[in-house]
Amino acid sequence: MPKTPEAGILPLPPGDNEPCFCGSGRKLRTCHKTASPDSRAAHITRLYREVERTIDEFRADHPKQPPCREGCSSCCSDYFPISQVEFELLLVYMERHWSKDEVAEAFERAEENLLLLKQENAQLYASLTHTIDRKGELDAVRQHAGRNSFPCPLLDQATGRCRVYPVRPFICRTHGSSHTFYGSWRERLQPERVCEYIDGGRSHRKITPNVADFWPHYEALSDVRVGPQRRPLRQYPIFYWLVLYGRHGNGRTTELGSRDNFDMPLAEHNAQMASHGTTSK
Ligand code: SF4
Ligand code: SF4
Ligand SMILES: [Zn+2]
Repeated sequence: MPKTPEAGILPLPPGDNEPCFCGSGRKLRTCHKTASPDSRAAHITRLYREVERTIDEFRADHPKQPPCREGCSSCCSDYFPISQVEFELLLVYMERHWSKDEVAEAFERAEENLLLLKQENAQLYASLTHTIDRKGELDAVRQHAGRNSFPCPLLDQATGRCRVYPVRPFICRTHGSSHTFYGSWRERLQPERVCEYIDGGRSHRKITPNVADFWPHYEALSDVRVGPQRRPLRQYPIFYWLVLYGRHGNGRTTELGSRDNFDMPLAEHNAQMASHGTTSK
């Protein structure tokens, strides 16, 4: 059995020919040379590939497909919270594939998006910009999140295409193209509506693969605990990550303040985050 670095992580061992997470098409070990094949970013990239393979294989065997197609991007206006490592993967991709002006424009759009959210959804805005615990964060998303009046700042609005498609976050990969069904009566009776084209009921479950088994792996990678109180690192929608990095990081650039999500083995990084604030004087 392959070695699993941390409990709950999908046992996907790094291969010699593993492509780099930046989307260069080159091998990880020759492209981003300081990156660890055991890092959080490398693991989540493997998980992305595995989910994609599952969806592709299912599609190949099922002639009837969900209505998701290139150019359909209504759900890119949904409030999709993502983890920090997923966001940093977007920045690394943008660094390689976008111009500086395009990057700066995405940061600018994100600031405009936040302003719109403040005007249109005060409760959700407050939950983003104030310190709240995990329960408060989840409650705010459950009660107030839905479709924003604006799309993701990484969407090409003219064509409806995702401009970071190869590294799009887990939720963008699975939304509509798969389902998570644990078989409970509640799910049977109240299927979760996916979008205006998909009711999330039985017919959708028949034409998409069940990716419920991937969720624990995703959560194990994205749930980062900080300090002795094990405070969870929050998840934010892409526009708000851009706002945070633009204001408090290295400005409106793709530069990362720390490359720990890429260069540090996962177990080591988890231990480092857990020891925050515990250094003795
Ligand atoms: S989930 Fe719905 S809105 Fe999103 S791509 Fe699929 S059909 Fe379109
Ligand atoms: S990252 Fe891509 S797929 Fe995800 S919401 Fe943004 S534009 Fe849509
Ligand atoms: Zn690379």
